[in-house]
Amino acid sequence: MTPGPDAMSEPLMATYKRLPVTFARGDGVWLWDTDGKRYLDALSGIAVCGLGHAHPAVRDALCEQAGQLIHTSNLYGIAEQERLGAMLTERAGMDRVFFANSGAEANEAAIKLARLHAHRRGVENPAILVTEGSFHGRTLATLSATGNRKVQAGFEPLVQGFVRVPYDDLDAVEIAAENRPNIVAILVEPIQGEGGIRLPADDYLPRLRDLCDREGWLLIFDEIQTGMGRTGRFFAHEHVAAIPDVITLAKGLGNGVPIGACLARGAAAEVLTPGSHGSTFGGNPLACRVGRAVLQTIDAANLVENAARQGAYLLNAFRESLRHVNGVSEIRGRGLMIGIELDRPCAELVPLALAAGLLINVTAERVIRLLPPLILEQPEADQLVRELTHLIEGFLGNA
Ligand SMILES: *Cc1c(COP(=O)(O)O)cnc(C)c1O
Repeated sequence: MTPGPDAMSEPLMATYKRLPVTFARGDGVWLWDTDGKRYLDALSGIAVCGLGHAHPAVRDALCEQAGQLIHTSNLYGIAEQERLGAMLTERAGMDRVFFANSGAEANEAAIKLARLHAHRRGVENPAILVTEGSFHGRTLATLSATGNRKVQAGFEPLVQGFVRVPYDDLDAVEIAAENRPNIVAILVEPIQGEGGIRLPADDYLPRLRDLCDREGWLLIFDEIQTGMGRTGRFFAHEHVAAIPDVITLAKGLGNGVPIGACLARGAAAEVLTPGSHGSTFGGNPLACRVGRAVLQTIDAANLVENAARQGAYLLNAFRESLRHVNGVSEIRGRGLMIGIELDRPCAELVPLALAAGLLINVTAERVIRLLPPLILEQPEADQLVRELTHLIEGFLGNA
């Protein structure tokens, strides 16, 4: 047996309860552990490795750029940052981008931008509307924005200036608008990821757009998990044609190389100016060169379409294979962002799947979360359905 994290992890702070496996290499949708056992990766490092593992385009971009230039500073021009910035803003219909190194940092930029925008317009004590069940990161501002007490507990005093409403509840937003004149923005995930693959009603995001127009608020979409083709459109908000003022991105953008982005349009794009925000590493040539390779590969290999196709296939296949299984509450998702909700807590399924050579995740206690690489093909999708159905049947005592 591999010397598991229990024996090996003493030097590490105990921020993660790690599974007893260590991976040595990967190829596409497959990973191999240090004993040579093979696993089907249906999680992609939590929506990060959309191109799968060891993709040659990522490898080549990394190696070429590392041999040329890794880092200078944002004190100087960075051609790769401008190239990726042009591609991303065009794709998103945004005017400008700020590059950071993670999702939380991208959201920090969006929160600072919303506050500065408000102060410049004379709002003394601006507040940002956020939702229950949301996840926006682990920094102090982003954990304060997050709608999960477990993420916040023990870190009080939290950052002020967030007003919370239930997700997918337009009436609650209307009431907040009436009672809180200091609201200046809404920060929301188009589909809640950590919150349990929760899809709002189709009119939720468009009506938030209308409300923001009426109230003069900024609409900020956290597309850190849903973006980069994950849901079968490049951005999840494209499914409902609700155009935000600000978009945050990270996870899938670097396929594992840390990079985050905060995109903005119109007045929101002009808010951050020299001295108001910055980052030492953000937008360095290495990360941006890889981001460009990821975007080019997504386009060249039609991976957004593939995510839509394989996602629809998986959704149908699971609905069929689990149709008569008692204890399955709902199967939902968009593209390759799929949740299978059970009627009971099911975290135990994760180690059972691991033993069976399958990497999955359970979030919000009862929701099996699948985020396979965008390169997934049908034989692997079939294997995923077969093995996970078998595991769920066994777990629920329906075998
Ligand atoms: C993962 C995630 C974040 C945080 O990203 P980090 O890179 O871990 O800081 C923020 N928002 C959403 C929706 C996420 O899924």
